[in-house]
Order: sequence, then structure tokens, then C-alpha cells
Amino acid sequence: MFTRRRFLQASLAVPLVTRLGWSSRQRLLPVQVSLERVTRRLVGLRPYRPSGFVVRAQALDDKTVIHNYGHGGAGITMSWGTAQLAVELAWQGEEREFAVLGCGAVGLATARLLQRRGGKVTIYAKELPPATTSNIAGGQWGPASLSDPSRRTAAWNAQYERAAAFAWRAYQDLVGEEYGVSWLDNYRFHRQAAPGAGNDWEAQDAASFGPAQSPLPGYYARRFTTMMIQPSVYLPRMMQDVLLYGGRIEVREFADLAALSDLPEPVLINCTGLGSRELFDDPELIPIRGQLSILLPQPEIDYAYLSGGLYMFPRKDGIVLGGTYDKRDFSLEPDLEAERRILLGHQEIARALV
Ligand SMILES: Cc1cc2nc3c(=O)[nH]c(=O)nc-3n(C[C@H](O)[C@H](O)[C@H](O)COP(=O)(O)OP(=O)(O)OC[C@H]3O[C@@H](n4cnc5c(N)ncnc54)[C@H](O)[C@@H]3O)c2cc1C
Repeated sequence: MFTRRRFLQASLAVPLVTRLGWSSRQRLLPVQVSLERVTRRLVGLRPYRPSGFVVRAQALDDKTVIHNYGHGGAGITMSWGTAQLAVELAWQGEEREFAVLGCGAVGLATARLLQRRGGKVTIYAKELPPATTSNIAGGQWGPASLSDPSRRTAAWNAQYERAAAFAWRAYQDLVGEEYGVSWLDNYRFHRQAAPGAGNDWEAQDAASFGPAQSPLPGYYARRFTTMMIQPSVYLPRMMQDVLLYGGRIEVREFADLAALSDLPEPVLINCTGLGSRELFDDPELIPIRGQLSILLPQPEIDYAYLSGGLYMFPRKDGIVLGGTYDKRDFSLEPDLEAERRILLGHQEIARALV
């Protein structure tokens, strides 16, 4: 449903601009990119599985574990959706007391959906926001770097479609300052004409521009509207909601599966992200390291862009510049050479926009 509805939107919207033949170039204000404007560097590990996220039930001694992990570069995006799938599984039993393992975007959405159904929830996590990977995310709503398309199965695709549609809808109820969720115009720049209408999630109010009309001269551009989620606002607000609705949050690390047997809850929802690699022995789960440079805020920048692996997201807490995608790299140390390359790339784009 997600794909079909958005494909229809895309096919209605995209030809419009091209057919009318608008010739004036779209203008975007440039970001001020310089080393002096970098306020901080963030490094995080995307919890990636080539065959995609895992949502399934597993018996563990006298407990049931429902897995909900492995969201790659799209854990903020997909969190409400896979939480819905996990909660549907959890609700098939009689038990209504749940332990949610993990307090990132995925654990928090899962906890809230359990609470909305009347479940009693305790979150257990070794780290809480702001110390989770979810805090590192750029925060664009977009199922990117989620899985390897050649490894997807029909069953997984069906889960994905339902989850993406649910998440897309869920975030719209949170748009506003309180949760740090907002609508934003995004541009994807390409050297070549993009084949077809682009990704299905890039269909809302979409338009395509040839090199003469594109804001980035010489590049094709596709504009679409999606949501941005600012983790530093969204995650603490979600924790507050969990507590407001009677939940508990306990800091606790699980060294191995035996440690889980001490928990009083009969049903555990595993939202430990990359932690599942060790805890549940899933070697397919690997990190894709990502590094961000955050520049001083520029409130006049009201668009985001993606271009050849680089991306810029404007947030209230700063201009987010990415990107790196280093598979199997566990290092959390900032790589200054990579930063230099990223800044140069964004500088080039900023200069061309003027
Ligand atoms: C640079 C970068 C940019 C990104 N940009 C985006 C983006 O624009 N949009 C998007 O949707 N996604 C983005 N992502 C991906 C996103 O950050 C992740 O997919 C998401 O954070 C995964 O959420 P999670 O809740 O599964 O994991 P986490 O946020 O890592 O939370 C896991 C929780 O489990 C706990 N835990 C782990 N192991 C144990 C253990 N053994 N015992 C107890 N607790 C444990 C942790 O302490 C933590 O509380 C980006 C990631 C990076 C690195």
C-alpha cells in the first residue's frame, strides 16, 4: 500500500514541472561551510543487516523474546513501524507485562505502543539518551541504508511495507516543536537523469528539474518533502512520555543471555540495536560507521540535500553535514581526514548554489 499510494502521488506530481517547461533556476541559500563553524563531531554505528531488520519471536527458557533490531541507517525512520509489528507479536500471548531492552528510538517507540494498548512496561538499557546511537542520527525520515535489496525476501518486503506506512503516519502526529519533528523540502542532486520517479518515499510533493533549472547548476535535481526528526528534542520527550504513562526506565547492562533470566517480566522485546550482535549472537549484524560534522545553526536554511553520498540537514541545534558509510568499522574516533573531505564537498556545493 505504501509503495502504490506513493507511486501514484509520484506519477501525478513529477511530470508537472517538466511538462510546463519552467525555465527559471531554483535558488537555494548556501550553507556557510568552514572548519571554524564546526561545533562538534559525532560518530555512530548504524546497526546494519544485509537481509534487513529482524522482527520475530523466540522462546528463551520460560520467557518469550520478541526481536526488533537491525535498522541500519533508518532506525529513527522505521522505529514506530517495526515497533507496531513487534507489539502485534507480543500481544498474541496472554502476558501484559513487558521488558523493553534498549532505550534508543526503537525501544522508546515500542514502549509507547505497548503502553497505548494498556501494557505495563519497564525499559532496561545500559545507555540512555543522549548516549545512544539514535542521538547521532541525522534524523531525516527516509528508509536509507536499511538493507541490501538483493537479500530482501518477499516476507521481509511485506513487513517493510507495513512498517514504513505505519511509521510515516505515526510521525505526522508528532510534527511540532514539542517532539522536534518538522516537514522539510529535500533535494537529491544527480549527475545523470534519475531513472523513473525515484524512491517511493521521495514522492510527497515531488518535482524533477533538469540541469538548467536545478538549484545546483549542471546537476539534475529531484525535490521531495519529508520529515526531519531532531534527536535531541525527540528522544528525551519520548522518555518523558514513557514515564508519564506509568513506565519505568532502569539502567542495566546485560552481559549475556543468562542475565535476562533475572528479569521479572515474562515477555522481553529486544531493541538493543547493534548490541544484539553480541547479546543474541547475530554475526550478520554489522556496523556501518557514520560521522557527522555539526556547524553553527543557520536558521535561514530551510531545505536539506543529498548529493553523491554527502548530505546536509538543517536543524535547530546546528547544520548537520555527512556523510561516511564505513562497513564493519567499529571505531568511534572522529576521522579528521574524512571530515576535511566532507567539508570540501559541501563547500563546493555551497559555492555552486550562489
Ligand atoms: C551518522 C548517522 C546518521 C544517521 N542518520 C539517520 C537518519 O537520518 N534517519 C534515520 O532514520 N536513521 C539514521 N541513522 C540510523 C539510526 O541512528 C539507527 O538506525 C538507530 O539509532 C537504531 O536505533 P536503536 O534504538 O535500534 O539503537 P540504539 O539507539 O543504539 O539503542 C540501543 C539501546 O540498547 C541498549 N543496549 C545495547 N546493548 C545492550 C546490552 N547488552 N544491555 C543493555 N542495553 C543494551 C543501548 O544502551 C541503547 O539504549 C543514522 C545513524 C548514524 C550513525
